[in-house]
Amino acid sequence: MSWTDLLEFDRKNIWHPYTSLKRPLPVYPVESAAGVRIKLADGRELIDGMSSWWCAVHGYNHPVLNNAVKSQLDRTAHVMFGGLTHEPAINLARLLTDLVPRGLEKVFFCDSGSVSVEVALKMAIQYWQVLGKPGKTKFLSLEKGYHGDTFGAMSVCDPVTGMHSLFSGFLRKNFFAPSPECGFDEPCRDVHLREIMSILEQHGAEIAAFILEPIVQGAGGMKFYSPEYLGKIRQLCDEHEVLLIADEIATGFGRTGKLFACEHAGVTPDIICLGKALTGGYLSLAATICNEKTAGTICGAFPGVFMHGPTFMGNPLACSVALASTELLISGNWMEKVKSIEDQLTKELAPCGSIAAVRDVRILGAIGVLEMDRNLDVAAAQSLFREMGVWIRPFLNLIYIMPPYIIDSADLSRLTTAMKAVAENISS
Ligand code: PMP
Repeated sequence: MSWTDLLEFDRKNIWHPYTSLKRPLPVYPVESAAGVRIKLADGRELIDGMSSWWCAVHGYNHPVLNNAVKSQLDRTAHVMFGGLTHEPAINLARLLTDLVPRGLEKVFFCDSGSVSVEVALKMAIQYWQVLGKPGKTKFLSLEKGYHGDTFGAMSVCDPVTGMHSLFSGFLRKNFFAPSPECGFDEPCRDVHLREIMSILEQHGAEIAAFILEPIVQGAGGMKFYSPEYLGKIRQLCDEHEVLLIADEIATGFGRTGKLFACEHAGVTPDIICLGKALTGGYLSLAATICNEKTAGTICGAFPGVFMHGPTFMGNPLACSVALASTELLISGNWMEKVKSIEDQLTKELAPCGSIAAVRDVRILGAIGVLEMDRNLDVAAAQSLFREMGVWIRPFLNLIYIMPPYIIDSADLSRLTTAMKAVAENISS
């Protein structure tokens, strides 16, 4: 079949993320991808600025990751995790528990980021039930927060940008505090926490957990906030008997300059959710890891088990590639690479602040953001970027990149030059 026919079928029959089947946004057929280059079917090569939504930290078609999948494929692609176990899951769990903030040691493997959030929410509810506080079934989260697209996860996403309103009849009503107003380099003052303190004082008895994305609010606006704020949230949660869930699905594995964003604040949550870069972008896998207090309580009284068990739990292929990807990351100089990306982004994007339509320029670790004063026409911007040989997909009023850590400075400059050109184009 020709690409014209294949694309025609795609347009008519296949949903892409957040799009219409009647007026689909254009999609570009990919022939292959290697390193930081995505090769389109027309032969054009695009430098990847997105890491396929935070995942492909080592770039594409990496020999070490390819080998991990191939050798595991010859042993076992999949076996059920009920009543069986295997080395890839055990070795991965051991490595992850060594790396995440100290005290997080009980690992639940699941299929995707959203499911890992569902699992974390269920853990929190079961925890309080066992402790004889069945009224603690609600959650506190932040406006502009994003935690996934399943129902439990949606109920803790920003009520507006998280599409809460469309499904409001079906979603649990949770509590939302204003998005943090103290930026990454700013101190956190009592005024920034006033609303949270008031919600916790009035409703602490109904709240099972506070769920947040540590330091970087991603899909809800690419905002960075003060580590001090996160530290104070940890204290408030303890004072009000509320568990803290850190959703590190986007921020984990070095993206913000620390292996996990909680480290900026020296905070250990009760439960952490990992996904995305866990497998280096090869397969869908996530992990929800909790502390002994949470796991011990859940398993300490009726029903004595944690009530979740997906079919593809601990999939050996996914665990093998996750192990290889995480070992590759920590055995290399990821921290220097992320720091040099951060320095280059700062140097090359900071001047964009003087472009008329640019409202703010934000850089943290290997993340660069131009916040515009208006929403972008995604199809038009995507096409402009393609003409410039880069893969950048804007979102609402944000032009942002989080490239693979292996990107070299010449390719990174092509990304920042393209961002600047599109920002100027919008301003003119
Ligand atoms: N939490 C955060 C912070 C995310 O960025 C995402 C994905 N964009 C999710 C949860 C959901 O993960 P998934 O798409 O793998 O279900």
